[in-house]
Amino acid sequence: MDNLNQTRWQAVQNRDQQSIGLFVYAVQTTGIYCRPGCAARRPLRQNVKFFFTSSDAVAAGYRACKRCAPDGQCVIDPSTAAVIAVCRTLEIDDTDLDVGAMASQLGYSERHLRRRFLELVGVSIGSYRRALRAQRARVALQAGAAVTDAVYESGYGSSRAFYEHGATRLGMSPGRYRDGGRGERIRYTSIDTPIGVVVAASTDRGVCSIMLGPDEVKLTKELASEFPRAIIERDDDGLAQVAAVLAGAVRGTSDATKLPVDLEGTAFQIRVWETLRAIPSGQTRSYSQVAELVGSPNAIRAVGSACARNPVALAVPCHRVVRQDGSLAGYRWGIDAKAALLDAEGAHLSS
Ligand SMILES: [Zn+2]
Repeated sequence: MDNLNQTRWQAVQNRDQQSIGLFVYAVQTTGIYCRPGCAARRPLRQNVKFFFTSSDAVAAGYRACKRCAPDGQCVIDPSTAAVIAVCRTLEIDDTDLDVGAMASQLGYSERHLRRRFLELVGVSIGSYRRALRAQRARVALQAGAAVTDAVYESGYGSSRAFYEHGATRLGMSPGRYRDGGRGERIRYTSIDTPIGVVVAASTDRGVCSIMLGPDEVKLTKELASEFPRAIIERDDDGLAQVAAVLAGAVRGTSDATKLPVDLEGTAFQIRVWETLRAIPSGQTRSYSQVAELVGSPNAIRAVGSACARNPVALAVPCHRVVRQDGSLAGYRWGIDAKAALLDAEGAHLSS
């Protein structure tokens, strides 16, 4: 969010015509909003608020500037138009955006479109999506909407999804946000297993992170960087039961999919992860089967990336997703670990 607004502010100061259509800025002291490039006097930074679209600015009570007419049409260069198209698509529905398909529709390679997006907007497409949601949730919360309304109005698929995602973006859960905020407490433990160290962490609502690897110190650092605002403390006793379940899961003797989880993800990711939790031990599914199960048969690549972003190994058994031909494909925690887990579960692989 900070990078996003820095880039925007730069564009306002430079009267950068390239950024027209990407955002509008409102001046609190005048009640007027402008598009970047407006010839009006430059406002002071402290009086400026940024909005993704004109209608967001209008909803917040600002009027369109007569000089730059930010609510009207204007001529812009085609690659900027492509970037704007991505922005608008994300604003409408970001659950299943296939950037590659969208790029080729607009006549660009995915790489080119992503680069141009970063250049113009100042953050990646993924960060933009998160900023957009967080802003909507925050606006709704500050307006005093009930938390559940805020959840649905801001486009989160479920309150669980909001707590995951919203909680990370806001740095706390919504109730606490209105209370002025308090740190989330995350406890963790680690166990040694035949496939390496397993680090598991939990909020009061459920397990929020399970990582595998050869090096415990590295894993706990990763945990801290995933939850930078949380208070993270070791709690081997409190998490003994979780540890026992995970130790058994690695050997194929217990079921980690029954552990309560507290996850961060988009509505689509949540759907994929819920689907994975229903794959029985000893069985596998292909990426396209999972895509069909979640009701988006064409979203095979999106399923792949949801698997790769699974924050809780074992509890969401993404290792049970393999290629159509039965070969293993990738695994965030290493292909050897994936093979060992499937082997322990007695899964029959065709290769
Ligand atoms: Zn203006």
